[in-house]
Amino acid sequence: MTDLFSKFDPLIQQRADLLATGVTDPFNLVMEKVLSPTVAMCNGRKTILLGTYNYMGMTFDDDVIAAGKEALDKFGSGTTGSRVLNGTYQGHKEVEEALKEFYAMDHAMVFSTGYQANLGIISTIAGKGDYVILDIDSHASIYDGCKMGDAEIVAFRHNDIEALEKRLKRLPAEAGKLVVLEGVYSMLGDVAPLKDMIRVAKENGAMVLVDEAHSMGFIGEHGRGVAEAQGVIDDVDFIIGTFSKSVGTVGGFCVSNHPKFEIMRLVCRPYVFTASLPPSVVATAATSIRKLMHGSNKRAHLWENSKTLHKGLRDLGFTLGTEEPQSAIIAVIMPDLEKGATMWEALLEEGLYVNLARPPATPAGMTLLRCSLCAEHSSDQVGEILARFERAGKRAGIIG
Ligand code: PMP
Repeated sequence: MTDLFSKFDPLIQQRADLLATGVTDPFNLVMEKVLSPTVAMCNGRKTILLGTYNYMGMTFDDDVIAAGKEALDKFGSGTTGSRVLNGTYQGHKEVEEALKEFYAMDHAMVFSTGYQANLGIISTIAGKGDYVILDIDSHASIYDGCKMGDAEIVAFRHNDIEALEKRLKRLPAEAGKLVVLEGVYSMLGDVAPLKDMIRVAKENGAMVLVDEAHSMGFIGEHGRGVAEAQGVIDDVDFIIGTFSKSVGTVGGFCVSNHPKFEIMRLVCRPYVFTASLPPSVVATAATSIRKLMHGSNKRAHLWENSKTLHKGLRDLGFTLGTEEPQSAIIAVIMPDLEKGATMWEALLEEGLYVNLARPPATPAGMTLLRCSLCAEHSSDQVGEILARFERAGKRAGIIG
């Protein structure tokens, strides 16, 4: 018998080597208690959270929690069925209405996760004989959507407009083409030049899908994302998003103005062949999305936090993923995985949680400490975060 697990041996060894250094396992942390969007108990210590996707801090919003509790009481704990059978409740329609209003678009389709939204939409609309042209640093769910479909996959260099154009020009003029982009790339927190990329895509007869998972609620005048901020949202054919970040719960969606969009509900397998979201989840999502429509003060404070942290970390001597702050994500580049894990642990001991990210999730083999800010981080907390980075960075030998 061939042990099917032998392919994982290099990863098992790498993990064992890392843990043998005595470092706390960075991929096995437990949040023992969550006190607010920005503070939790970890290893018995009060810890500032700087590594969540809770950008707008909606998880403890009073109205959001009340809506969830009410739905739980009125509709029960789960739907036990697919959206196309017994799993569409009033709440699922309401959250789709909220999304249509939020994006000012004609159609909204809610999936059980953002991962499934990418999987479903990409694999269903790009079929045999079609082409998907995607940024090489695309999220795993985009790659998996491509794998599941039958289209030809063409990757281009990250955020490179000319590379996109070159690839497009090589494809047969009459073939169906889908250009897949992200608003904010979550590893380095950098933003895509959507305006030029979408122009190039349209000039070459391609439809455009933009994953705005990390920009919803924060970037753009109405929080609709990078396409809104760059004035090109009307040229986007499909926006993919998630409820697991700014919205503060779980779920995924696609919004579109395509006149035939509703047929997706019958042909998209990751929509049809899975249970719909629980009533409490769609109720919290709908309430949160409606509140995010009026979130401009919070958006302004989050930008302040992002700028202060970026400048502070740079002044301390850390190497960052972007020259300027472009989103709520600030990536601190570590020399290697071992040093990254040591620094991550030193921060945790200081009472600060960040994400440790490493290949294959990261580009160019980088180890990153990913900091993601929340609109509920106070200015004092951001100051405290910088002080903890300084102490931990000196202790771990990352800065002088
Ligand atoms: N797209 C992007 C760009 C993401 O970063 C993520 C999650 N990190 C997803 C999609 C999937 O979202 P979800 O958590 O809702 O599955």
